[in-house]
Formats: sequence, structure tokens, C-alpha cells
Amino acid sequence: MALEKTLVLLKPCTVQRALIGEVINRFEKKGLRIAGLKMMQLDDAILREHYAHLVERPFFPGLCASMSATPVIALALEGVDAIEVVRQMAGPTNGRKALPGTIRGDYSVSGQQNIVHASDGPETAAAELKRFFKDEEIFDWATPQQVALYASDEI
Ligand code: UDP
Ligand code: MG
Repeated sequence: MALEKTLVLLKPCTVQRALIGEVINRFEKKGLRIAGLKMMQLDDAILREHYAHLVERPFFPGLCASMSATPVIALALEGVDAIEVVRQMAGPTNGRKALPGTIRGDYSVSGQQNIVHASDGPETAAAELKRFFKDEEIFDWATPQQVALYASDEI
């Protein structure tokens, strides 16, 4: 158990479908703290870095086009084991295979237009938070809900 921060991007499909509030609401209701939030337009340079593991794949040009179709919303979310919690909430990559109850399962029917990006481990979370947020854009405000969210030995 560790208090972690993770990066989420609300993809252009989410912005275009007016689901920004709905998806952010799910993270808030879960009990994750919003430590950073902004709208930004992604370009090919940042997408090549962010999706470096996929640049050779045939779908990469289409992925870049879809990820830069509109601005995205970047979120820095904090909670105990937040990286895994958020990946579980997102569900598997393909929205057609993701179970109802997951974000992708509830809002997506696509393997590409799948609502959110979420960091997949501690190293990627650290690198991705740095990629999308300046230090001064991450806020450590205290939430009074903490005692209701966690047992004393969990935090
Ligand atoms: N993607 C795609 N086609 C594929 C696999 C992935 O368009 O066959 C896109 C999809 O939008 C996915 C992103 O590339 O979210 C990153 O892929 P990754 O395998 O890292 O999946 P994720 O971590 O987003 O679940
Ligand atoms: Mg990934």
C-alpha cells in the first residue's frame, strides 16, 4: 500500500461526446483526490513520446490523429494504490471487451476511442506526470474526507 499519483488523459472522443464531467465525477466519487487538472492540445512530438511503445504499429498514425482531434483533459489523481485503482476503473483497452462498470465498458465500443488513458505502473506514472504537468501545476491540498476514505493504517 502506498499513496500514489497517476496520470489520466480524457481523450478527444470524451471531450467531443461531452463526457468530461461524467468521467471526472467517477474518479471523484471513488475517492481519488484531484491533484492537477488542465486542458491541453497534444501534438505529434508529445504523442510520439507518450506512445513510444506503439510508434511502429500500423494504427499509430490513426491514434495520433484521434489523440490530437481536440484538446484533451489531463488529470493528476492521488490515492492509495491509485495507479492500479485507476487502471481497474478504466478497464481493458478495447471498449467492446471491457466489462460494464468500467469506464471503457460503460462508454466505449472501440479499441481506440476508449475514453481515457491511464498510467500503467509506477515508472510510467512518474514519467507521464512529468510529461504533462509542471511541478507547480500539481497541488497538495489537504482533503478533510481522508478520515472517511481510509483506515488509519492505510494512509
Ligand atoms: N490502440 C489502438 N489499437 C490497438 C491498440 C491500442 O488504437 O490495437 C490505442 C488505444 O487508444 C490505446 C492506446 O493505443 O488506449 C495505447 O495502447 P496501450 O496498449 O498502451 O493500451 P492502454 O494502456 O491505453 O490500455
Ligand atoms: Mg498503455
